[in-house]
Amino acid sequence: MTAATQRASAQVPDALGRFGEFGRRFVPETLMHALEELTDEYNRAKADPSFQAEFHRLLKEFVGRPSPLYYAERLTKLCGGARIFFKREDLNHTGAHKINNTMGQVLLTQRMGKKRVIAETGAGQHGVASAVACAHFGLPCVVYMGEEDVRRQNLNVFIMKTMGAEVRPVTSGSRTLRDAINEAMRDWMASVEDTHYILGSVVGPHPFPVMVRDFQSVIGSEARQQCLDQIGRLPDEIVACVGGGSNSAGMFYPFIEDESVAITGVEAGGRGPKPGDHASTLSFGKKGVLHGCYSYVLQDEDGQTSDVHSISAGLDYPGVGPEHSYWHDTGRVKYVNVQDKEALEAMQKVARSEGVLPALETSHAMSYAIRRAAEMDKDDVIVVCLSGRGDKDVAEVARLLGQGF
Ligand SMILES: *Cc1c(COP(=O)(O)O)cnc(C)c1O
Repeated sequence: MTAATQRASAQVPDALGRFGEFGRRFVPETLMHALEELTDEYNRAKADPSFQAEFHRLLKEFVGRPSPLYYAERLTKLCGGARIFFKREDLNHTGAHKINNTMGQVLLTQRMGKKRVIAETGAGQHGVASAVACAHFGLPCVVYMGEEDVRRQNLNVFIMKTMGAEVRPVTSGSRTLRDAINEAMRDWMASVEDTHYILGSVVGPHPFPVMVRDFQSVIGSEARQQCLDQIGRLPDEIVACVGGGSNSAGMFYPFIEDESVAITGVEAGGRGPKPGDHASTLSFGKKGVLHGCYSYVLQDEDGQTSDVHSISAGLDYPGVGPEHSYWHDTGRVKYVNVQDKEALEAMQKVARSEGVLPALETSHAMSYAIRRAAEMDKDDVIVVCLSGRGDKDVAEVARLLGQGF
């Protein structure tokens, strides 16, 4: 990294939420005030030691942090190259990284004196993490979820309801995640006085991309210190999957200024590079606005947001966080893509060699890491963010393997 990018990365985002040319706010007037209020409150909370202490107490006592940095010894032997480590976000309460962010945002909701929470969800992971955080604090929670996803992820729908949340099926558009975000924003415009909208990734208008990245940075901060304690040095490469980009941003951010550490984000390559067959926004997208934010977006010739496909519902999104677009264009992070069938293979390989079942989303990062480790030296170290566990995916995987139950 050049001195110039290093200086630049220290200043992003600026007060307007700009990561270079990306980010900012493209929202109706009614939301501007709420976003400014949220930004001010977040900046105060960030600098407030009592807020930070409460956040970290919750992460420890309720979420179960710190999550281990685990040496995948048998997988390493199988690959015959670099030592592979997993950052075990799958061991968090609710089984994924999403809860780091929802606990932070619910604390902020209370701090702002708001009485109601709304959220969107795709696969249901963020919906469950929001429902859990709200149940913990006794706040009512409404989760918008595309009708198609409600059908595909009925286990998570039932868990949300059991936690006391109301799940509202969204019947517009493709009836998936992006329509659920539109519907949540519509609700927020009408309810902003007493309601906080917990966005689930590093997307949307400022301050969401920076705030969610900060809450998720506990992943990378812990991993960095664990590398120093357990291995005695920094890793040679770190890897994470990229949907909206929150587990990856949280993993990457604390390593951004460590020039010796290569960083790779893995997007969903789906069935292949044809439009509509994948969700590889940074490989195939163009600059544009989606959900109130300027970033790379998968779109057609007319600028209409494209349909996307991935085997994993959590990566099935046509946009990406503005900070990733910035890291992509500055060259600090390399972005690759992994196809459905490669992710499926990696999931099985990790399960058999390590007794750990990664989520399909995570399996994209695993597939790249397995391939990359084999090319690296035996003394090298590669760390993969194991963003979540695969239990939610087993019915779908069984169906795909022709072993449906
Ligand atoms: C939601 C999810 C993702 C993708 O979201 P990001 O914001 O890109 O992290 C990845 N892995 C798991 C397990 C998820 O639940």
